[in-house]
Amino acid sequence: MLCCEIVSVGTELLLGDILDTNAQYLSKELASMGIAVLHRSTVGDNPERLRQTVELALSRSDVVLLTGGLGPTADDITKEVCADVMGFALVRNDEAEESMRAFFKTRGRPMPESNLKQADVPQGGIVFQNDNGTAPGMAMEKDGKSVILLPGPPNEMRAMFADKVKPFLAAKTTGVIVSHTVRTMGIGESDMAERVAPLLRLSNPTVAPYAKQGEALLRVTAYADTQEEAEKRMAPILSQIRGILGEYIYGVDVEDIQHAVVQALLAKKLRVATAESCTAGYIAKRLTEVAGASDVFDCGLVTYSNDMKEKLLGVRHETLAKHGAVSAETATEMAAGAKRVSGADVAVAVTGVAGPGCSENKPVGLVYIGIADRDGARAVRFETGRRDREFNRYVTASRALHLVWQSIQKY
Ligand code: AMP
Ligand code: MG
Repeated sequence: MLCCEIVSVGTELLLGDILDTNAQYLSKELASMGIAVLHRSTVGDNPERLRQTVELALSRSDVVLLTGGLGPTADDITKEVCADVMGFALVRNDEAEESMRAFFKTRGRPMPESNLKQADVPQGGIVFQNDNGTAPGMAMEKDGKSVILLPGPPNEMRAMFADKVKPFLAAKTTGVIVSHTVRTMGIGESDMAERVAPLLRLSNPTVAPYAKQGEALLRVTAYADTQEEAEKRMAPILSQIRGILGEYIYGVDVEDIQHAVVQALLAKKLRVATAESCTAGYIAKRLTEVAGASDVFDCGLVTYSNDMKEKLLGVRHETLAKHGAVSAETATEMAAGAKRVSGADVAVAVTGVAGPGCSENKPVGLVYIGIADRDGARAVRFETGRRDREFNRYVTASRALHLVWQSIQKY
């Protein structure tokens, strides 16, 4: 497998003035081509440090891709340093010079002579003309190693990569990288990682855990000559993961919990309704982000005040007086009320303390989710463990959607 690394050149990157979007773009592109990106580094416009970075990169990778530092100014030194490291002389490229002059002519601007420095290319190297700017890209190859130089401006870099460098690299590589993402809810990232610990040590496929907005995910990635072969490598690992984490998994390669819920409701021809207090419509919003929601979503009620919980959902006055709005009893009656009012197959209700302050002397992050389905109505209690209002609302909506998903599985 071809090993590649990316070097982003530019002091502005180190200073945090601009975000290194080039590296992200290249990482994605290379991964999709079955090229392993094993290192990424960022270095300023400094000849000594750039030289060290390139030498180190060449010592461990087949292909070193650099972006930035190809401009006409004195601080642009990527080409000079790389040519020196690779032992290539720089010579003027007529085609590059011509296209540079044409570039300025079409814009009606005089060309500063310093710009001509950009038309110098490594003798015996490969030149990638720049269709969107003046600095050409280039490749130098020696002893089975390649150094590829791309301009820094993202629009120039992307176009050059897609049109010219990609085909150039594709000729050197065979194989594909395929990955699947297993999405879970109701289990923490470290707990999940512990349960699948032996799988995290595999090399092809690799299994990597990560957390995302209150969810724990596992990404399984395989490299092989063909897609089919990569799938074959991953199948037994994916089934092991299902065996270990089964109850927490709500989907593989699904976009998010609301997509999983809407798809499941559609498949089973069921309808859902919501009654929301602390999330105030967030669950309904997320459900209706999914195309096709109108076929499965009946109604969403936002009952923020106790009064409306009673009037619209039929929550009993005594329940609220005795247990408070944030209680299992209220959540259960809210869900039952939403199901009754809407006639939906499944109804979900939430009531909780979003924070940052507490209410009813109950802790911030305490939430009750009520669910009403063909087995009756009940509630589950959970704590987000945070004071962050936005996070609490998001995670509460996620958990509520997950309960709906679990309920649908019974039908
Ligand atoms: P250069 O090729 O170094 O002259 O870069 C020209 C411009 O491209 C910089 O001023 C940045 O705005 C942009 N640029 C350079 N490197 C990157 C990068 N890694 N990611 C995003 N933008 C970049
Ligand atoms: Mg620069």
